[in-house]
Order: sequence, then C-alpha cells, then structure tokens
Amino acid sequence: MSPEAGPAAEPYDYLIVGAGFAGSVLAEQLRSAGCRVLVVERRAHVGGNAYDTYDDAGVLIHPYGPHIFHTNSADVFAYLSRFTEWRPYEHRVRASVDGQLVPMPINLDTVNALYGLNLTSFELEEFFASRAEPVEQVRTSEDVVVSKIGRDLYRKFFQGYTHKQWGLDPSELDASVTARVPTRTTRDDRYFTDTYQAMPRHGYTRLFQNLLRGIPVLLNTDYREVLPVIAHRHLIYTGPVDAFFDHCYGPLPYRSLRFQHETHPVAQFQPTGTVNYPNDYAYTRVSEFKHITGQEHAQTSVVYEFPQAQGDPYYPVPRPENAELYRRYEALARTRTDVTFVGRLATYRYYNMDQVVAQALTTARRLLSREEAAPVT
Ligand code: FAD
Ligand code: UDP
Repeated sequence: MSPEAGPAAEPYDYLIVGAGFAGSVLAEQLRSAGCRVLVVERRAHVGGNAYDTYDDAGVLIHPYGPHIFHTNSADVFAYLSRFTEWRPYEHRVRASVDGQLVPMPINLDTVNALYGLNLTSFELEEFFASRAEPVEQVRTSEDVVVSKIGRDLYRKFFQGYTHKQWGLDPSELDASVTARVPTRTTRDDRYFTDTYQAMPRHGYTRLFQNLLRGIPVLLNTDYREVLPVIAHRHLIYTGPVDAFFDHCYGPLPYRSLRFQHETHPVAQFQPTGTVNYPNDYAYTRVSEFKHITGQEHAQTSVVYEFPQAQGDPYYPVPRPENAELYRRYEALARTRTDVTFVGRLATYRYYNMDQVVAQALTTARRLLSREEAAPVT
C-alpha cells in the first residue's frame, strides 16, 4: 500500500449482509450513530424483495411481486417519511369466483353478489353465524375461516388459493396465515384497514437510495466471498437463517414464486390493483402496477404469481414442525454473539415490510445501547 493510501483499513464496526429493509434500516441507524458500516448484497440492486424498477415499456414494476405499504405504527411511518414522500393508496382486490369478480376480503357485497341476495350488514352477521362451524380451539388456517363463515365460502375463497400458494391444505398451516385476510359485514372493500396506507411517491428503490446515502454497498457480492478479507467487529445477517448455518439441521421450508411479467397495449388491464384466482389456473393472483403506483402511461404492466417449491426463498411456511426446526436454528443463532440475525428470512417470520422496519429499528437500538454500555475499542 502506498503511503498516500493511508493506514491499514480500520475494521468496520458492522458488516451488514443484505440491502433489503432489514439491512438498509440497520445500516442507516448505525451509520447515523457514528458507526462504520459496510453493506454486502448478493443481488445487483438494493431493496431486497421490495426493489422496483422501470420495465422496457417504461412502466414502474415490482420485479419480486406487488409490494403495498401499510402500517398501524406511527413510528415506522414517521421514520420512513424521512426518506420518501408518499402517495396515498388503498389497495383493493377482487376474487374471481363462480364467474364473477367480487370483493376480497369477503364483505357484504361479496356475499350478496355471489348468492344473489340483498342482505343488510346485520343479516349478514346472522348468515355467517348460521353457517359457521364451531371449533373447540382455533389452531389451523382451516379452523380460522370455517369457524367464522362456514365451509362453502371457505372452499370458494380459501381452500384452493391456499393449496396453490403453499402446496398445503389450510388444515396444515397455522391459523395466522389465512387470518391475514379478515371477513367483513360492511361494504368496506379495502384489502387493508391500517391507519397508514401509502406508496413511496418515487418508488421503493429511491427510498432505499435515500436510506443508504453515504453508506458503502458492495453489490453482486455474496458475503461469504468477502468475509475473510473484510475486517469487522460484528456481523448483521438478513438472509435465510438455515443457509447461514449450512443447513446443519436440514433445510427450513420456504415457498417460492415464479413471476410472469407482461406489458399490454391498453391503459388498464383489470379493475383493481390485484385480482385473485382461488380456483382456476396455476397462478394465484394478477397485479397491475399502475393502480398501485399511480403512474400514468398508455400501456400497462402486470405480474402473474405462480407458486413453486423450488427457487428463491420468499415465504417462511408457518406450521408447527417448521417452527420447531426454526427454534433449533434460533438456539444456534443465540450462541453466535458476534452475529445479529434480523429480517423476514433470518428470523423465519411471515413479516410485512413495516414489521421488518420495526424489528430493524428495535435491533438498532439494542445494538447501540450495548455499544454505550461497553464501547468497542
Ligand atoms: P429481503 O428483502 O429478502 O432482503 C434480504 C437481502 O439479503 C436480499 O436482497 C438478499 O439478496 C440478501 N442476501 C441473502 N443472502 C445473502 C448472501 N449470502 N450474501 C449477500 N446478500 C444476501 N410486505 C408488505 O408489507 N406489503 C406487501 O404488499 C408485500 N408483498 C409481498 C409480496 C411478495 C411476493 C413477497 C415475497 C413479499 C411481500 N412482502 C410484502 C414482504 C416483504 O417483501 C418483506 O417483509 C421485506 O421485503 C423483507 O425484508 P428483509 O430485509 O427481511 O428481506
Ligand atoms: N388467501 C386465500 N385466498 C385469497 C387471499 C388469501 O386463501 O383470496 C390466504 C392464502 O393462504 C394466503 C393468505 O391468505 O397465502 C395470506 O394472504 P395475503 O394476501 O396476505 O398473502 P401475501 O400478500 O403475503 O402473499
């Protein structure tokens, strides 16, 4: 090294694996507190699965499937608002069932359209109650639906979709999976009811560029390639936890997707941001980005999601035996005081973006308070 190049490189305080929400929020927080941080990302871009980009037609798309931001956390929303402006957006979904496109989550209009009825909200409550099958203990994704609205609606809206999405029957999945989609007796046809529902006005990638401003990021780099040559005091890992430990207890199950992106020479392809196909086709849903991003363009781009077992890990699979296997990896992770595991795949939790941001903010606070208590010299 020439003298001009200065002294041998100081070790990084934190080497962060992954530039998704978990890694980028931690990088921003630690860097703001004065730590030396390096982010290493295997892909050719930042943003993790929330990355967005313009396709060949010039339409802003989400290559890894539609990402709609929603949260009840004022803290998470205020934090992200430092890095993006927002465009208010409330997501709406229709399900293609019995030849009709009806609101999903199931609501008053869904039931009236499907059965040719004219029920009021009050009558719909009675309708659901008369069909609900009591379950002693709600444990599975079947229980949660059947115990509220009965088997016919369960079959029409949940069973087929869940089979496709997970390759499992709802009775084999934790209640938390289908509990993500509520049932309503009102006419509210929004997919989410969170306090804050908005899209980053200039896209997610811009939000990530703002989060990572001034922070070195090595793209196209698997951390294993550089680990031996980049001196660091602590590692933050946001990839799949089982891969970190070379699958020593066997692979944790993940669900993957194949995305089929298409551009159509029309201004609008479908009536809502997403249309679900619970019972037909190999894909689960079709999303049209212009609804979601608000972009104006003469053409439109959509994505079809085809669930599959193999491929990039996108979803942890919430069921008891997987939680059990994860607990073994978690115990191993706890022994590694030189590494912090954070994010959807590193903690094997079916987290939305806002939950990952909250988890990363909490983790940053914990790491920083540890530094205060025992500063690294
Ligand atoms: P990731 O975004 O997966 O980031 C981890 C990063 O680590 C990746 O970029 C990966 O390349 C990198 N990495 C892994 N291993 C290595 C390695 N060995 N070396 C270097 N880098 C590595 N959430 C919502 O709130 N709303 C939605 O509408 C929504 N829709 C979704 C739709 C789909 C199809 C999917 C799959 C997820 C959706 N989510 C949604 C969830 C959201 O994507 C996640 O909560 C969030 O992106 C997780 O962030 P993360 O940082 O934990 O992980
Ligand atoms: N689900 C369903 N039918 C639908 C929509 C959802 O059965 O029309 C079930 C399915 O098991 C799905 C889960 O509810 O995986 C959660 O749906 P969500 O839309 O939250 O999934 P994500 O956006 O995370 O893929």
